[in-house]
Amino acid sequence: MRSVGTRIAAGYGLALLALFVIGFAAYRSTGTLIASSERTLHSRKVLHQLNHLLYQLHFAETASRGYLIAGDPYYINQYQTNRRESHETLNRLIRLTRHDATLPQRLEAFVRTQDAVFTSLERTHAVRDADGLAEASLLLAGRDGMEAMNAARSAILEMVATEQDRLLARESGSQGAARRTQNMIAVSSVAALVLLACMTILITRSIAGPLRQMSVGSQRIAEGDLTIDVPLVGRKDEIGALAQSFAQMVLSLRGTADVAGKIAAGDLTVRVEPQSEKDAVGHALARMVSDLAALDGQRRELYEQVEAHAHTMEEQVAVRTVELRNAKEEAERANQAKSEFLSRMSHELRTPMNSILGFAQLLDMDSALTDSQRNRVSRILRGGSHLLELINEVLDLARVETGRLSLSTESVALHALVAETTETIRPLADDRDIALTGMADARPRDVVADRTRLRQVLLNLLSNAVKYNREGGTVSVTWEDIADSRVRVRVADTGIGIPAERLGELFEPFSRLGAETTEVEGTGIGLALVKGLMEAMDGTVGIETTSSEGSCFYVELPLAASAPIGEQDAPGSDADAEAVTPADVSQGYVVLYVEDNPANLQLVGEILSGRPDITLMTAPHARLGLELAHAHRPDLILLDIHLPGMDGYEALKALQAWEETRDIPVLALTADAMPREVERGLAAGFARYVTKPIDVPTFVEAIDAFLAADPQADAAEQSDA
Ligand code: ADP
Repeated sequence: MRSVGTRIAAGYGLALLALFVIGFAAYRSTGTLIASSERTLHSRKVLHQLNHLLYQLHFAETASRGYLIAGDPYYINQYQTNRRESHETLNRLIRLTRHDATLPQRLEAFVRTQDAVFTSLERTHAVRDADGLAEASLLLAGRDGMEAMNAARSAILEMVATEQDRLLARESGSQGAARRTQNMIAVSSVAALVLLACMTILITRSIAGPLRQMSVGSQRIAEGDLTIDVPLVGRKDEIGALAQSFAQMVLSLRGTADVAGKIAAGDLTVRVEPQSEKDAVGHALARMVSDLAALDGQRRELYEQVEAHAHTMEEQVAVRTVELRNAKEEAERANQAKSEFLSRMSHELRTPMNSILGFAQLLDMDSALTDSQRNRVSRILRGGSHLLELINEVLDLARVETGRLSLSTESVALHALVAETTETIRPLADDRDIALTGMADARPRDVVADRTRLRQVLLNLLSNAVKYNREGGTVSVTWEDIADSRVRVRVADTGIGIPAERLGELFEPFSRLGAETTEVEGTGIGLALVKGLMEAMDGTVGIETTSSEGSCFYVELPLAASAPIGEQDAPGSDADAEAVTPADVSQGYVVLYVEDNPANLQLVGEILSGRPDITLMTAPHARLGLELAHAHRPDLILLDIHLPGMDGYEALKALQAWEETRDIPVLALTADAMPREVERGLAAGFARYVTKPIDVPTFVEAIDAFLAADPQADAAEQSDA
C-alpha cells in the first residue's frame, strides 16, 4: 500500500533534492562571480600603484630640477621624500604582484632602471654643489640622464598598458559570471514555483479532496440521512481506512435507526447484538430494548386490569342506566300525574272560584250594600284572591320550572304598573303604618315585558318589602336607565334585612331563610317565581344591598322603543285601564256567550248588564251557539271549552269553516288554565284565552279591545268625531 504519508515524503524529498541542486549551482556561480570581481579589484590596485610610481618619479625629477636652478636645499628634501616613496611604492607593487606570471620579472628589471634614474639625477646635484649652476646646466644641456628617465617612464607605461588589458578581460569575465548567476536564480525560482505547485496539487488530490467528500458525507449523516454511499472505501491508504471506518459507523447507525424504528412501531422482539465489549451504543440500545420490553409487559398487565375494571364498570353502568331509566320513567310518570292533578285541581278550584269571586265583585259594585255587608264582601274577595293567588303561584312555579310558561311581551309603562301595584299593596302597608314612596321622582319609562308577569314580580317584591319591614317603616320604588338600553327598578325597604350567610338560598323555592319561625306568613315560593319570571322575560333580579337597616331588591328589563313624548303616560295614570272605555264603543254590539254552567252565564250577564251598548246572547251548548252565530253574526263570541256534546274546539273549527263567521273574534273563556292548554287554545285560533275565575276589569277590557277593533265600531267612532 502506497500510503499518503509515503507519497507526501517522496514529494518533499524530490522537492528538497531539486532545491539542493539549484542551490549548489547558484552557490558555484556566485563563487565564480566573487573570484572574478576579486581579480578585477587586484588589477585596479596594481594600476593605481603603477600610476603612483609614475607620479613619484616625475615629482623627484621636478624637485631635482628645482635644486639645480635655485640651489635651495628645500628641493633636495622634496627629492629625497619622493625617492623614498617611490621605493616604497615599488616594493608594494612587488608584494602585490608576487603571484603574477609576468609582472614580477618586469618589476625586478624596473628596480635597476629606477636606480639608474636616481643615480643620474644625484650626479647633477653633486656637480651643482661642486662646480656651480653653470656646470650643472651643461650637464642638463648634454641631456645627461634623460634616457634613463624616459626608459623608466616607458617601462611603467608598458606595465600599465598590460595591466589595463588584463583589467578589461577580467571585467568582461565578471559580467559573464554575474549574468550566469542571474539566470541561475531566475531558473531556480521558476523551478521552485513549479515544484511547489506540483506538491500542492499532489496534497490536494490525495488528502484535501477525499477529506472534503468525507466531510459532506458526515454532514448528511448529521442531518439524519443514513442512505448515503460512503465514497473512497476501495482506496488502499489512510483515507481508504478512514472511509472504511466511516462506512462501518454508517452501517452501525443504520442498524440503530432500524432498531429504533421497530421499537417505535411497537415491535419489542427485536434483538440487539453489541459489536464488541466497547460498543457503548449497542449495549445501551440492548438495555433500552430489554427495559422497554419489561415496561411493555407491565403495561399489558395494567391494560388487562383496566379492561377488566372497565368491563365491570360497564356492567355497573348498564345496571345503573336501567335503574336510572326506570327512575326517570317513574319520575316522568309522577310528573305527568302531577301535571294532570294540577290541571284538574286548577280546573276544579277555578270553577267555583269563578262564582265566588265573580259574584263577590258584582256584589261589591252594588251601591245598595250596607257598610258591614260591604266589609264582609271585601273579606270574601280578599280571601278568595289570596286563595287564587296561591293556586296561581304554585301553578306558575310549576310552569316556570318545566319551561312551559307562555309570555306575551309588550311595551309596558312603568309608572302605570308601579302605581297599580303599590295601590294594590297599600292596604297591607297602611295596616302597619308603612309609607310607600319614591315613584314621584322617576322619569316615565316603558319596558319590554309581559304586563301580567311583571305585575306579579313587582307585587311579590313589594309585598315582601312590606311583610319583612318594621312598623312605621318605608318602602320606596325607584328606577333609572342603565347600560345596554335597560332599566333597573329598585324596591327598597327599611326592614329586618337578610342574614349574609343565607343570601345564597334567597331565590331557592320554598326557602324562607328563617322566616318560617316568625309570624310572617309566606310560602317561600315568591322570590323563586320572581327569578323564573324575570329570566323568562330577558330580565334579571337580584339583591343590591341588605343589612339590619333594610334591603334593596332590583329587577332589570330592556327599554321599549320610546313612544312619542305626547303618547307617554302621565305619572300615576293607568293607561291600560283607560285605553278602551265603554264610551269609546258605539251602540249596538252583539256578544254571544256559549256556556253550560248557569252560574257563569249569570255572572257574565250581570257583568255586561251595566253596558247598554252590548246585547248578550247566550247558548248552553255548542250546537245552539253555532246556529245563533250563523243567524246573527255577533261582533264577538265567548266560548267555553268543556261543553256537553260538541266541545269548544269543535265549535271553533265549525265557526272558522263558515264564510259568514270566519272573521268573528272568538275568546276562550275557561277554567283550563294550564300553560299547554293556553298554548293549544291560541294555536287553534282563539283570539284570546281568558281563564276563570274572571277578573272583571281585565275581562271587560278584553271584550272592549275586540269590539273597538270591529270595523263597524271604527266607522261609528269616525262618524261620532
Ligand atoms: P315568602 O313567601 O316567605 O315571603 P319569598 O320567596 O318571597 O317567600 O321570600 C323568601 C324569603 O326571603 C322570605 O321568607 C324572607 O325570609 C326573605 N325575604 C324576602 N324579601 C325580603 C325582604 N324584603 N326583607 C327581608 N327578608 C326578605
